[in-house]
Amino acid sequence: MQQAAAPKVSFVSLGCPKALVDSERIITRLRAEGYELARKHDGADLVIVNTCGFLDSAKQESLGAIGEAMAENGKVIVTGCMGAEPEQIEAAYPGVLSITGPQQYESVLDAVHRALPPVHNPHLDLVPPQGIKLTPRHYAYLKISEGCNNRCSFCIIPKLRGDLVSRPAGEVLREAEKLVTAGVKELLVISQDTSAYGVDIKYAASPWKDREVRARFFDLAKELGEFGAWVRLQYVYPYPHVDEVIGLMTQGKVLPYLDIPFQHASPEILKAMKRPAAQEKTLARIKQWREQCPDLTLRSTFIVGFPGETDSDFAYLLDWLEEAEIDRVGCFKYEPVAGAASNALGRAVPEEVKQERWNALMARQQKISARRLKRKVGTRQQVIIDEIGPTVSKGRSKADAPQIDGAVYVSSRRPLRVGEIVTAKIERADEYDLHGSVAGF
Ligand code: SF4
Repeated sequence: MQQAAAPKVSFVSLGCPKALVDSERIITRLRAEGYELARKHDGADLVIVNTCGFLDSAKQESLGAIGEAMAENGKVIVTGCMGAEPEQIEAAYPGVLSITGPQQYESVLDAVHRALPPVHNPHLDLVPPQGIKLTPRHYAYLKISEGCNNRCSFCIIPKLRGDLVSRPAGEVLREAEKLVTAGVKELLVISQDTSAYGVDIKYAASPWKDREVRARFFDLAKELGEFGAWVRLQYVYPYPHVDEVIGLMTQGKVLPYLDIPFQHASPEILKAMKRPAAQEKTLARIKQWREQCPDLTLRSTFIVGFPGETDSDFAYLLDWLEEAEIDRVGCFKYEPVAGAASNALGRAVPEEVKQERWNALMARQQKISARRLKRKVGTRQQVIIDEIGPTVSKGRSKADAPQIDGAVYVSSRRPLRVGEIVTAKIERADEYDLHGSVAGF
């Protein structure tokens, strides 16, 4: 006899936006097969934990989440980056039902089928065509490739995720179209190295509507710009071919925003880090981009305390920051990751020096960010609304990516809707956020 209730799965998604996209894909497939999502572990038939294994602190968080799922439920399937090295999980939680690495969707689904067979036949109509999204409906991450061809010495992502595998442009564009048709207003283009898109498939063209589109960074960005949604480019490196995309920004086709994880500025450290585009004349390139597109917002991340980083390397980085005037910055203290090549470099920087440098960089950057933000006071900015308040709603301008950048708080006499894009007059800036009022719809 067929069971009446649908099997319930509780899902924990840890890690970066790229892992979130993996989670969305797994959940979409599960929903298509008739599984339901449970809100809590203890009401569920099993738990899936999508882990992050990038830094030791992320591994600890992942292990903690697995422990919680084991205690509250007991039937646990683990996937994601930490699953690529299962020994630690097996040792801590021998009762875990299955462990798989990132992007192994089929293996995760097989494990779920074994532990908790579906009660319905697969019935794809149960799922909306754009899939299930964990991100709010008005923005969505669009993953254009998996893996990475670079070999940054502090990073084990290529080991975990393998070399670059780009999706055909036509496939990416079909997904983007479905998302926009379903109401998505902002597409966040992600991958490990967005500027390397298509290198592995020799920029092969694929069919899209009545034409062929090549798997090139510029060609894809241009086509995405045709949907009329905000298109935000993340994880780009400053290669010369990125210059072409700045033209699309000035035409309003893609957002004047680039997330470039520079990680450092000192040539010696960049070399030791084996960073992509480390030889490029980055400051000159930034200057030229800003001349061409004065509204360009740059976000970046930096690592302080990398092995061998001297006082003068660090001073170089601070001067560089001052000159580059990066709008938004995240900073991490170097952490040795098990399996990373940088562990063999020696010359570790003491923890207290890392902390001092972190404090100094954040203090310096705060001033730069605040200065750049202040220039927006008195201007009009388009703002996409993320959260509604009784009189003041929270949104983001084109310069703010969700979850990582600042916000714009806008007051309005008429109630706003989540996902609505309004024009706001900016009246005030504080260290990270802007405040203003609606001046048009
Ligand atoms: S670009 Fe470097 S840091 Fe980024 S995923 Fe590739 S190897 Fe890791």
